[in-house]
Amino acid sequence: MTSCQCNNKLYVVKKTCPLCKEEGKNLHHLVVKEVVKKDLKYLVQNDKYFICRNDKCEAVFYNEEKDTMFLNIDINMAADFNEVCKTDGGGCHKGCNSCH
Ligand SMILES: [Zn+2]
Repeated sequence: MTSCQCNNKLYVVKKTCPLCKEEGKNLHHLVVKEVVKKDLKYLVQNDKYFICRNDKCEAVFYNEEKDTMFLNIDINMAADFNEVCKTDGGGCHKGCNSCH
């Protein structure tokens, strides 16, 4: 895996989903806040969040403590969910997502 030229190294933490036990991806809490339903935004705290990318799993986001979890039904589908998916730090392409 080639690393990108930017110095903006993302701190990658691995956490497994509390429901399906798949490994989740680290996500900024502001991104979570952006896509959860309006009345749930208050639940999003300044914490580390993870996204479960397993299609069959009901969980979408969960935090590091695993005491907060957002399910499919908690997500505002009108929000630009693709923006969230783009933060997937799986591999740095030519221009990585964090060095625009
Ligand atoms: Zn899951």
